[in-house]
Amino acid sequence: MVSTVVVDGLALAQELRERMAKEVAALLAAGRRAPCLAVVLVGDDPASASYIKGKRRACERVGMGSVEHKLPASTSQGELLALIAKLNRDDGVDGILVQLPLPKPISANAIASAIDAAKDVDGVGPLNAGKLLLGESGLFPCTPLGILEILDRHKVALDGAHAVVIGRSMIVGKPVSLLLQRRNATVTMCHSRTRDLAALCRSADVLVSAVGIPRLVKADWIRPGAAVIDVGVTEVDGEIVGDVDFDAALGVAGLLTPHRRGVGPMTITMLLHNTLLAHRQRTGA
Ligand code: NAP
Repeated sequence: MVSTVVVDGLALAQELRERMAKEVAALLAAGRRAPCLAVVLVGDDPASASYIKGKRRACERVGMGSVEHKLPASTSQGELLALIAKLNRDDGVDGILVQLPLPKPISANAIASAIDAAKDVDGVGPLNAGKLLLGESGLFPCTPLGILEILDRHKVALDGAHAVVIGRSMIVGKPVSLLLQRRNATVTMCHSRTRDLAALCRSADVLVSAVGIPRLVKADWIRPGAAVIDVGVTEVDGEIVGDVDFDAALGVAGLLTPHRRGVGPMTITMLLHNTLLAHRQRTGA
């Protein structure tokens, strides 16, 4: 039986946030302004409202500024684009995050494309996506950055490793695959049409699941000793459940993220990281 290391994403996030708080304090001590994140929420989805509250609170705790724009569900794409244009011009705003999902008539791609790439702290726009593909530096999606941070902190060898990623979304699956490939992992990106997913997973040294199907990944899908990152978050009977059958994976995975206090806290932390990075790049601080 393998002794599984369960990742404490909250402790890691806390450590990184303390470091960022010191960096922000140093900026202020040098007479500069604090980095500032603008968060835009369209509609009144309670989960989205709770996410943006968490993001604002995280900003405040490290001394960063945050502004919130709450728009009604009836907002048109043109009205949202006008707000984005205003935030793009606002020199006091370093990062712009538009909370997804957006109401149906609004194209998330059109909104992502409208955000100034230098302020695209969620890494959703085409320029930053292109930079990731080209192997250049840029602002990349927060969850994948958090995953890489977790793997690095636990000294998971990526060079030459076989990484299997389940999911191909623009926000998790694709960018984490590219980041792993950049680190010389051999990446297999799987999706809903993949044949014999279990067998592919069993050959993974690093397994990342970003699907949203509760307990999709069974213990016998995991190669003993593999690093398993569970991104999935699904509510079942009022409880949050991950993509990985956590209890069964204990004793099989070498490294395992829990569905609570795992990847989630690292996602918000990397948003703060990107906001600080965007601020430094924009202002030369
Ligand atoms: P998404 O856009 O819905 O993508 C889900 C992916 O899973 C798709 O690529 C889909 O394949 C694939 N898929 C669906 N059923 C499958 C199956 N039976 N076998 C294999 N692949 C399958 O979701 P997302 O935005 O990437 O998010 C994924 C999960 O992560 C969700 O639960 C979300 O809540 C969670 N999440 C958590 C965090 C965090 O910070 N903890 C951050 C982001 C997302 P197709 O492309 O073929 O449809």
